[in-house]
Amino acid sequence: LIELDRAHLIHPVASYRSHEKHGVRVLASAKGATVTDASGKQLIDGFAGLWCVNAGYGHDSIVEAAARQMRELPYATAYFGLGSEPAIRLAGELADRTPGNLNHVYFTLGGSDAVDSTVRFIRYYWNARGRPERDQFISVEQGYHGSSTVGAGLTALPAFHAGFGLPFDWQHKIPSHYAYRNPVGDSPQAIIEASLAALKSKVKAIGPERVAAFYVEPIQGSGGVLVPPKGWLKAMREFCREHDILFVADEVITGFGRTGPLFACSEEGVVPDFMTTAKGLTSGYVPMGAVFMADHVYETIAEGAGAAAIGHGYTYSAHPVSAAVGLEVLKLYENGLLDNGIKAGKRLMQGLESLRNHPLVGDVRGRGMLAAIELVVDKANRTPLPASADPARRIFDRAWENGLVIRAFANGILGYAPPLCCTDAEIDAIVERTRLTLDETLE
Ligand code: PMP
Repeated sequence: LIELDRAHLIHPVASYRSHEKHGVRVLASAKGATVTDASGKQLIDGFAGLWCVNAGYGHDSIVEAAARQMRELPYATAYFGLGSEPAIRLAGELADRTPGNLNHVYFTLGGSDAVDSTVRFIRYYWNARGRPERDQFISVEQGYHGSSTVGAGLTALPAFHAGFGLPFDWQHKIPSHYAYRNPVGDSPQAIIEASLAALKSKVKAIGPERVAAFYVEPIQGSGGVLVPPKGWLKAMREFCREHDILFVADEVITGFGRTGPLFACSEEGVVPDFMTTAKGLTSGYVPMGAVFMADHVYETIAEGAGAAAIGHGYTYSAHPVSAAVGLEVLKLYENGLLDNGIKAGKRLMQGLESLRNHPLVGDVRGRGMLAAIELVVDKANRTPLPASADPARRIFDRAWENGLVIRAFANGILGYAPPLCCTDAEIDAIVERTRLTLDETLE
């Protein structure tokens, strides 16, 4: 496998040559929160794949739902006003549970194309309102909104921009709320005021009549699990409402129980105009994303478009097998999985907090089953680990040897997003294996 991989498989977000140095790590099977590699080694998956296998692995009822649908109707297009029962039912079930009036669902294949689709819908919206000059988009530094060209421009990763002419000149950023490294300090009030001031001045610089939309993640995930202070999301949402700027909550990571409730926005009492989701929607078993659109946005777009067709879509939009899986996963969330996630999340946060005194640990943060610890060279000065992939890779490898899969970001941040089905013993093992890994890193 290693030879075949070297010869033929190109991995996303990995150096071209890294597998030549390290070899590929192949997973063979998984059950619950435990994955087994090709050599038979068992590990706890502290990252639920890529923040997505919320229900855990090997759920027979999900497998059955997919198999049933494959036998019955493996494919139906959603194009041309055609449909399938599971997709229609899933849209209805989800609309019943989204915050506020986010009642219209557009299914995609994942998060990137969900974000891409919002950009198109937002342009339709402003055109329909006779305001085509509202074509400028703002997002937040340290944000991640996908890997498609448009999403990558909203994403704040220089590696995603270099050589592609990104971000586009209509894509703007304001600084992150990143409390541990915020020039205004870590007082919640100061951070909220600084973000509001930054947004205000960005809107002014662009021209208040030109701003189409503002994109946020309720908790920034790929930027290093950056949790804004309570009230931040609401303050930004209110600013956008006052200035007639559409507010997009990217819940691709935070959605479906990752932070506790089904959607993180609900917890903050925020109703966005658009919400993007993916990952936990199908718990990673099959690909699917969903854009949710508020009634007033949908009505405006539909009214403006009249008989014109929606100009984009995917062969696999509203895929019946993905929808059948989505329906089954939703049942699991409501039959104990969300509750278990809330309980396990408290234990995870307490456990990681107990590592705060470790000489390498600068910060511990998170909410629910979404957490991070930020490693530093010098605690007093918050000196980050060298910005290179190597220390992260070494920590990742050590954790793997210790039976734990985590996400090691290049800047020395360790990310946690375990399956919501974790038992107390599994959460404790995640914490203890992290402690061991950090001790070994210190040696
Ligand atoms: N938005 C956010 C907030 C994400 O975290 C991600 C993926 N990590 C995406 C969008 C893109 O989703 P996908 O990888 O499914 O295209």
